[in-house]
Amino acid sequence: MRRPIVDPILAALLAALVVTAGCALLGCAAAPPAMPAQAPTALTPEEETFQVAVAALRVEVPRPFPVLVEIVEIDGPYLGLTLLDPSIGGLRVLIESRQSFQGLIDALVHEWAHVAVWGASSEDSHDALWGVAYARCYRCVRRALDSARAEMQ
Ligand SMILES: [Zn+2]
Repeated sequence: MRRPIVDPILAALLAALVVTAGCALLGCAAAPPAMPAQAPTALTPEEETFQVAVAALRVEVPRPFPVLVEIVEIDGPYLGLTLLDPSIGGLRVLIESRQSFQGLIDALVHEWAHVAVWGASSEDSHDALWGVAYARCYRCVRRALDSARAEMQ
């Protein structure tokens, strides 16, 4: 089973929220997962690459609210979900862990397009506005991963 990946910046923010909010957050069904007590282990190359994609999206397709990205097992037929999470004052992007690495990246791009148009899209969540955002996210991630690969060679 793949261990959940939590964006390090937002993980620190969430850890601070848990500390300051105490059991009110911990008792909530939407509460973030408990942070490991030990130091984080080194990321695998795939985890590093995933983080490169998330970091590129944060820079090139930014939003003015927190966006937490996690790779987890999702109940139901979803490869990814984007949910409003009042406990972080922003959005939580869940990526289904039981898929290929390319699937993780594809789901991240798809979900970040929802992040990009959150609050502006029509009732059809995959409308033209979302489609334009998807293209922007796709190009952003492709450029970032191409650059990362070039640096490794
Ligand atoms: Zn969608």
